[in-house]
Amino acid sequence: MNILVINAGSSSLKYQLLDPQAGTLLAKGLCERIGIDGKFTYKPQIAGKKVLDAVDVAMPTHSEAIQAVLNALVDQDNGVIGSMKEIDAVGHRVVHGGEAFNKSVLITEDVMKTVEECIPLAPLHNPANITGIRACQKVMPGVPMVAVFDTAFHQTMPAKAYMYALPYEYYEKDKVRRYGFHGTSHKYVAARAAAMLGKKPEELKLISCHLGNGSSITAVDGGKSVDTSMGFTPLAGLPMGTRSGDLDAGILQYVMNKYSLSINDMLDILNKKSGVLGVSGVSSDFRDLESAGKEGNDRAALSVEMFNYGVKKLIGAYAAAMGGVDAIIFTAGVGENSVSQRLAIASGLEFMGVKMDAAANDVRGKEAVISAADSKVKVLLIPTNEELMIAMDTAALVSGK
Ligand code: AMP
Repeated sequence: MNILVINAGSSSLKYQLLDPQAGTLLAKGLCERIGIDGKFTYKPQIAGKKVLDAVDVAMPTHSEAIQAVLNALVDQDNGVIGSMKEIDAVGHRVVHGGEAFNKSVLITEDVMKTVEECIPLAPLHNPANITGIRACQKVMPGVPMVAVFDTAFHQTMPAKAYMYALPYEYYEKDKVRRYGFHGTSHKYVAARAAAMLGKKPEELKLISCHLGNGSSITAVDGGKSVDTSMGFTPLAGLPMGTRSGDLDAGILQYVMNKYSLSINDMLDILNKKSGVLGVSGVSSDFRDLESAGKEGNDRAALSVEMFNYGVKKLIGAYAAAMGGVDAIIFTAGVGENSVSQRLAIASGLEFMGVKMDAAANDVRGKEAVISAADSKVKVLLIPTNEELMIAMDTAALVSGK
C-alpha cells in the first residue's frame, strides 16, 4: 500500500511517498515558495532516477504544488509509480486537533469543520494544513485522506498534568490548557522502544526526549502520554534553538514596560530571538554552539549547559511523576547526533539507575542501546520518523484495521 504523506506550511509543502507495510520510502521532496516563485525538489529513492533540486515550477497555490508532486511521482522516466491509482491514500500532518481528536481520523467535512474550529489554537499552522488538505482533495478526488495530529497522542494526559493554575473559566470557556506537540514523534519512538526492549507498551514507563531545533520531553506510561513539556503552544518547556521555553510571566511585564514593547514584539523575542541563540548570541544550531564552546566562548557553552540541565531536570520530574522509568529515549537532531550532549544529560543520573556506556553512546542516527549492560534504566537512541508514523496510521485507517 502506497501512502503519500503531506506536511503543508503556508508557503511550503513537504512530501513523502511510502509503503508503510514494507517500510520503504519511494520518493520524498519539498515544494517551496508557493505563491511566490515556486521551487520544486524531488528525490526518488530508486537508483538511476533523476533528482530535481529546487527547480523552477510555477506554483501560484498549493494545488499546483500537489500537481507538481504527482507529475514527478508518475513521470515516465524518473517517476516511482506507474499512475496516480497506485497512491492508496494521503496522510496529512495537522498541528492542532484541540480536545476534539485523540487519534488520527479519516477526513470528512465534519472533521474539516472541527480542524477549522481549532485555528485559534494554532493560527499559523492549522490554516496551512487545511490549505494542503483542500488542495489534495481538489487534485486527487476520491482518494481517502487521513489527518494525523501533533496533539492527539497527548490527549491521554490527566487533568492534573494538563491544567494551568489559572481561573478555571479560561479552561472551560477558552480551552486554555496544556496540549503538547511532537506527538507523532513521541508515539513512534515509544513504539520502537517497546519493540527494541521486547516488551509490550503497556508494560513500560518511558521518557521520550525529542531534542532538536524544537524540543519536548514526554512521559509515556503504559503506552500513553501522561505529561509533556510543551504546553498551550510549542513555546513552553525546554529552552530551544530560538524559543525561550518556560519562564516567569512577571518578566514579560518588566521587560515590556521598560522597553515599551507590545505583546507581539515580546512574543517575537520569545519565539525567535531567545533560547540557545539568545543566550549564546552565536547560533541556534547546537553544532555551532559546541564548536564555539570548545573555542572558549563561555556564553555558547552556557547555553548548551542550560539546555542539558533542563532536559536532566525533566527526566527526574517525569520519573517521579510515573513512579519510575524503564527507558529513556533520545531522538531528533540533537538526540540522534550529539554524543556529548547525551552523555552530559545522562551523567549524574546514576542514583536513579542510569549508567551510560561511553563506547555504545559513540553512535549517530541509528537505533542503539547506549546504556551499560547492567544499567537498570535502559537508554536508547531511536531516530524519529514522523512520516512513517503518519503513513502507518493512514494505512491502518483506510484498511479498517
Ligand atoms: P531537528 O529540529 O530535529 O531537525 O534538529 C535540528 C538540530 O539538530 C540542529 O539545529 C542541530 O543543532 C542539531 N544537530 C544536528 N546534528 C548534530 C550534531 N552532529 N551534533 C549536535 N547537534 C546536532
